[in-house]
Amino acid sequence: MTDRPSTTPFDMPSWPTGGLDEELTRLQETFIPSLKDIDLRGLLHDPALDNLCIVSSFGTESAALLHLVTRLRPETPVLFLDTGKHFEETLTYRDTLAKQLDLNVVVLRPEPQMLDESDPSGTLHAHDPNSCCMIRKTLPLQDAIQSYDAWVSGRKRFQGATRSVLPLLERDGEKIKINPLALWGPEDIEAYFVAHALPRHPLQSKGFQSIGCAPCTRAVSAGEDPRAGRWPQMPDKTECGIHLGPDGKFVRQTRSRE
Ligand code: SF4
Repeated sequence: MTDRPSTTPFDMPSWPTGGLDEELTRLQETFIPSLKDIDLRGLLHDPALDNLCIVSSFGTESAALLHLVTRLRPETPVLFLDTGKHFEETLTYRDTLAKQLDLNVVVLRPEPQMLDESDPSGTLHAHDPNSCCMIRKTLPLQDAIQSYDAWVSGRKRFQGATRSVLPLLERDGEKIKINPLALWGPEDIEAYFVAHALPRHPLQSKGFQSIGCAPCTRAVSAGEDPRAGRWPQMPDKTECGIHLGPDGKFVRQTRSRE
């Protein structure tokens, strides 16, 4: 496989820069010839993406991605990282959506021995959230994702500076990652929820917008950055570490809350 500069004819830079290889270029030219002509159904059924999964946190916006992708490709496994620290409401919502959308949910859990050794009291999140995320999220996902050739993420450009140049297609190590909602705005997501009568996360009405683990998530005020409620104990942390950033490294700490 040969790296070559992006041939993208519109504002959808590869990430990292120049990371559009031959396979991504073929997929993009075939299924995304322009931003007005995105063939998501065709993309999801391309043989290169036969072994595909969705990764979902079952947060406030997750139902849109899950509905969109599984209506086009019903059998797609949905990987859920059960960190052991989720709100009960998130687990209930996961089960509600799984039943309503007939999802094939695959639950991933941290390695018990690693938890015993590194977080015996279950309070690692309070003083070293990066290590906690590594044990409870990054490593379980990295292990599970080895079984797949490609995965679908629900990230969007509007979610902050670290995601502001997010492409629809990208490389994540050896895997292909698809971000179908990369260019969606909050109004698009809201319209999709309404159009398809999708159930809401039970905490959304209580001011929670970006929802992760309970100890690391707070409600936000009206007008506040939706992700400002994540990791309030560590203000410069923006990501859990399961995604690669523009430099090709795992994103964990950089934050811009403008
Ligand atoms: S979000 Fe918090 S509790 Fe969850 S894995 Fe990361 S640090 Fe641990």
